[in-house]
Amino acid sequence: MSEPVVRLHQVVKEFPSTPPVRAVDGISLSIEAGELLSIVGPSGSGKSTLLHVIGTLDRPTSGTLRIAGRDVSGLSDRQLSALRAHSIGFVFQQFFLLSGYSALDNVADGLLYTGRPLRERHEQARAALDRVGLSERVDHLATELSGGERQRVAIARAVVGNPAIVLADEPTGNLDSRSSASIVELLHELNDEGTTIVVITHDHDIAARLPRVVAIRDGRIERDERRDLVGV
Ligand code: ADP
Ligand code: MG
Repeated sequence: MSEPVVRLHQVVKEFPSTPPVRAVDGISLSIEAGELLSIVGPSGSGKSTLLHVIGTLDRPTSGTLRIAGRDVSGLSDRQLSALRAHSIGFVFQQFFLLSGYSALDNVADGLLYTGRPLRERHEQARAALDRVGLSERVDHLATELSGGERQRVAIARAVVGNPAIVLADEPTGNLDSRSSASIVELLHELNDEGTTIVVITHDHDIAARLPRVVAIRDGRIERDERRDLVGV
């Protein structure tokens, strides 16, 4: 069997506040290529901290994290940012688009690390915007798009470099129910095409439709359920 895309072993993340907060308290978890997994749990349970650790945005206090079989603890900050650029796509609740830039430039921005010429980056960005159903909006400024469209641009930016895994933190948290449903639909489509996706959500209807649900409470895994959704 091939290596999991992500493997955490006894990961702890403690913040040095007074008193210290153990936001992640000994989590072991493997995520295989091709999974679509949700992380659920009450506010403050450590979901975002866990996602930041998985995404190498935050280093664990103890425990090990392997990405595609590679222990990342010995990597420098610079090596980690290269690893992130190549292997991990992020989607956040707040979209984080560059407001004065077009959808196309926002997505092409996700390829800056490649050092490829702008023309090539635009070509790939166009293809990614097409994948998320926005081929008609490529030249619109981010400010001219609806919330649901902005999140589609953010998702296109996350997938444009073909990362090993996409990490999404409450991607529908700022959207109305109709836009939310279409974003969830899009995540399912991308997963059907082979993208490995982890999505944090507090929406039980969304989690109920995903094949694996990891429930977190007080920084620990409370439940890890895989479901056979064939025919649902
Ligand atoms: P969730 O995403 O499930 O709402 P978080 O991972 O954001 O939870 O937070 C988990 C706990 O860690 C909370 O008690 C939060 O206050 C604390 N926390 C998060 N980030 C920091 C930080 N940078 N410094 C101190 N405490 C933090
Ligand atoms: Mg959070």
